[in-house]
Order: sequence, then structure tokens, then C-alpha cells
Amino acid sequence: MLALSGVAKRYPNGLAALSGIDLAIDPGAIVAVVGASGCGKSTLLRLVAGLDRATSGTVAVAGHPVDGPGEDVGVVFQEPRLMPWLTVEANIRFGLGRLPKAEAARRAAEAIARVGLAGFASAWPRQLSGGMAQRVAIARALVAKPKVLLLDEPFSALDTFTRRDLHQHLLDIWGWLRPTMMLVTHDIDEALALADRVVVLAGRPGRIVADVAVPLPRADR
Ligand code: ADP
Ligand code: ADP
Repeated sequence: MLALSGVAKRYPNGLAALSGIDLAIDPGAIVAVVGASGCGKSTLLRLVAGLDRATSGTVAVAGHPVDGPGEDVGVVFQEPRLMPWLTVEANIRFGLGRLPKAEAARRAAEAIARVGLAGFASAWPRQLSGGMAQRVAIARALVAKPKVLLLDEPFSALDTFTRRDLHQHLLDIWGWLRPTMMLVTHDIDEALALADRVVVLAGRPGRIVADVAVPLPRADR
């Protein structure tokens, strides 16, 4: 589903952020990307999301080279990045391309229910807790039913209990859509709780220094 081959990224200021990245991820896999701050995790995610371009090598999603943000990929960042002047529902509908109104409303309602926010469609972002706002961000990323969900430190601003709650929501969502997930995290416990596979980046430029399967079935962790 995701295929990176010989990927390197050098920023315009000359900083080499990634080098020699070869990575293939199967459909429906949940892969955690871990590593020290500055090793290129966010850069890697942005290349897959089409938010930035590799300096060399190829990045493909579902067999197509990535050449910009597209409907196949949903992204969740550390901050929810909601538009404060739009309701929860309108924020989520922002994640949809052009669709007939009734269909857009149906899709938004489904996504809202899947993240446990039924009843909050007309709420404003400022009325939400941090965990709820992040659930809206997840619903917005999923409303177009993308094949791939990318998450960049999505829970690191949340308290432990909220974080656990969101882990469960994320696994429920995985059971619903089976998206291929790439989860950037500093939290090794989170990686081991959620992922099938953990990829470790290290160095400057960042390279893959380890790539291991998590041996326990998720239900037993
Ligand atoms: P991580 O997510 O692992 O903390 P990043 O991908 O954010 O790492 O950054 C990798 C390296 O690239 C860091 O040294 C960072 O400062 C640098 N970097 C990130 N974005 C840019 C940018 N837009 N321009 C220049 N350097 C950048
Ligand atoms: P994260 O910790 O999630 O990787 P950062 O705080 O490193 O995020 O980066 C936040 C934003 O700043 C990103 O858009 C990144 O590209 C940009 N950035 C990071 N480092 C640099 C840098 N050295 N020069 C320019 N932009 C940077």
C-alpha cells in the first residue's frame, strides 16, 4: 500500500533530513515510526502525505506515485487544527471533496458516530476537550474513507486516560475501515500497544536502523 524506495530528503537550507529510505507497508498494517526528535519522522510522514516532495527516490501510495495531497491519504497532526468558526460537522465535511449534500451529510454523520461524538455535530471546537477535538480531527481525516491514515504524534498532547481512550477509538476505526496506518510517536508503549510493526529511524540524515514485527496479537497486549 505504501512503497518508498531510495528516498532522500534535503531541505532547501541544505539540511539532509532523510537518506536511503526503503520501506514497504502492506494494506491494513499498522506501522509505528519511532526515533529521537529530529531524526526525520515528520518529514517521512509529510512525504507520504504529499505535503512535501522527496529530493530523490520514489514514494507511492496504492501503486501511484505521490505528487500532492490526495483523497487516498488522511492525516492527523499533534494539534487538531480545527477551524474555530466551523461546527464539528462542518469541520469534518471539510475532509470531503465535492459530493451531493445528502451524501456528504451521511458520511459526516457516520464518521462522527465512529469517533463517539454523536450529539456533538453542531458543537463548536472551543466547546470540546482536547481529546474530543482530536477525535474530530480523526473523523475529518477518515470521512473520505482513505486507504491510508497517517498520524504524527496524535496523542502526545493528551493525558494518559484520554490517550488510552483514543487508542481504543483508533483500533475501532481500524476494525471498521482497515486503513493502512503509519503512526509517528515518541511513546514506545503506544507503539507496542497499537502497531504490528515498529520502524526505528536514527541519525542525521535519518535512516531506518531497525524494523521489527510486534510478536503479540493486539488483543493480548
Ligand atoms: P522528527 O519528526 O523526527 O522530530 P523532522 O522530520 O521534523 O524530525 O525533522 C528532521 C530534521 O529536518 C530536523 O533537523 C529538522 O529541524 C529539519 N527540518 C524539518 N523541517 C524542515 C524545514 N522545513 N526546513 C529545514 N529543516 C527542516
Ligand atoms: P515535529 O516535532 O512534529 O517534527 P517540528 O517542531 O520539528 O515538528 O516542526 C514543526 C514545523 O517546523 C514543520 O512544518 C517543520 O517542517 C518545520 N521545521 C522544523 N525544523 C525546521 C528548520 N530547521 N527550519 C525550518 N523549518 C523547520
